[in-house]
Amino acid sequence: MPRLYASRKRVLVTGGAGFLGSHLIDRLLEEGHEVLCVDNLFTGTKENLDHLHGHARFEFMRHDICFPLYVEVDEIWNLACPASPVHYQHDPVQTAKTCVHGAINMLGLAKRLRCPIFQASTSEVYGDPAMHPQSEAYWGNVNPIGIRSCYDEGKRCAETLFFDYWRQHEVEIKVARIFNTYGPRMHLNDGRVVSAFIMQALRGDEITIFGDGSQTRSFCYVDDMIEGFVRLMNSEKSVTGPINLGNPGEYSMIQLAELIVQKTGSRSQLSFKPLPFDDPKRRKPDISLAQSTLGWQPQIGVDEGLAQTIDYFRSHQSGH
Ligand code: NAD
Ligand code: UDP
Repeated sequence: MPRLYASRKRVLVTGGAGFLGSHLIDRLLEEGHEVLCVDNLFTGTKENLDHLHGHARFEFMRHDICFPLYVEVDEIWNLACPASPVHYQHDPVQTAKTCVHGAINMLGLAKRLRCPIFQASTSEVYGDPAMHPQSEAYWGNVNPIGIRSCYDEGKRCAETLFFDYWRQHEVEIKVARIFNTYGPRMHLNDGRVVSAFIMQALRGDEITIFGDGSQTRSFCYVDDMIEGFVRLMNSEKSVTGPINLGNPGEYSMIQLAELIVQKTGSRSQLSFKPLPFDDPKRRKPDISLAQSTLGWQPQIGVDEGLAQTIDYFRSHQSGH
C-alpha cells in the first residue's frame, strides 16, 4: 500500500521528464504529494510521463531552469541537467549554464520560499579519482578545461553554491552525489555504457569497448537510488550532504559486456575502440555515510536490475 503523508506537499521536480526525475515523480505521487514537473525536454521526453496524463496531482511546465522561475512550492528537487557524456558534451556551454545558472535560480527560489532543496550532484565531482573507493571527504581530481569539465566543474560549482546559500542564507540543502544509475526509462541511444551495450547486444552488433575495458564503474538500480533520494530529503535538517548514493559492486567494462551478452542471449562479439579523453579509470562509492546517516544501502544487484532493464529495452527498441 502506498504510504500517504499526513500533510500533502506541493513539490517541484526539475528535470522530471528525464530518467531519474520521472521515477522520482512516480514515487512522490504515490506518497500523496502534488508534483510540478519543470523540464525543457532537452534529453527528457513526455513519453516518460505519458502514464501520468490526466493525473489530478500532476502538472507539467516546459521551462529552462537557466531562467528564473516564479512558482509556489513546499520542496524543490533539482535534477535538471543532461547526464550522459554524449548529451552534456553536445552543447557544453548550455550544460555549464544549466548547472550554475540553474542552481542559482533554484536556490533563489528555495531562499524566497524557505523550503528544502535537493541537488542531484554526481560522482563526477571526484573526476579521475586518485582515492579508491571514493568517500565524501575526497576533494577529487578534475581537469578544469577538458571535454568533461562543463559537467564536472558545473556540478562542482553548483555544490559550492548550495553550501554558500546554506551558510549565508540558511537554505536547507540536501546534496546527493549520485553514482552511475541504470534502469527502465534510460535513454536508449545516449551512448552510456549500459544502454549502448544492451542495444548492441539486442541487435547482434559488436559491443564497443572503449580502451582495454579494464576501467570500472559501479552500477545502481534506479529503484534503490530513488529510495536513497527520499531518505535524504526526509532526513534531519542538519543532514546537508554531500552524501554518496550508489551501488559499491564494481565491474570492469569487459565484465559488464560479458554479463549483458549472456543475459540477452546475444551472439555479439566484443570490439575495442579508443578510450575517450579524461575517461575515469576506476569508480566505486564508499557508502558508509549513507548507511550510517540514512540507513540506506542498495538492495538490487546487477543480475536482477539488468534483467528489468533488458526487458524495458526489448519492448522499446523498435523505431530506434
Ligand atoms: P536525463 O537526461 O534523463 O534527465 C535530465 C532532465 O533534465 C531531462 O528531462 C532534460 O530534458 C532536463 N533538462 C536538462 N537541461 C535542462 C534545463 N536547462 N532546464 C530544464 N530542464 C532541463 O538524466 P538523468 O539520468 O535522469 O539525470 C538526472 C540528474 O541526476 C542530472 O542532474 C544528472 O546530472 C544527475 N546524475 C545522474 C546520474 C545517472 O547515472 N543517471 C549519475 C550522476 C548524476
Ligand atoms: N564505455 C564503453 N563503451 C561504450 C560506452 C561507454 O566502453 O559504448 C565506457 C566508457 O569509456 C566509460 C564507461 O564505459 O569508461 C562508462 O561510460 P558512461 O558514458 O556510461 O558513463 P561515465 O561513467 O563515464 O560518465
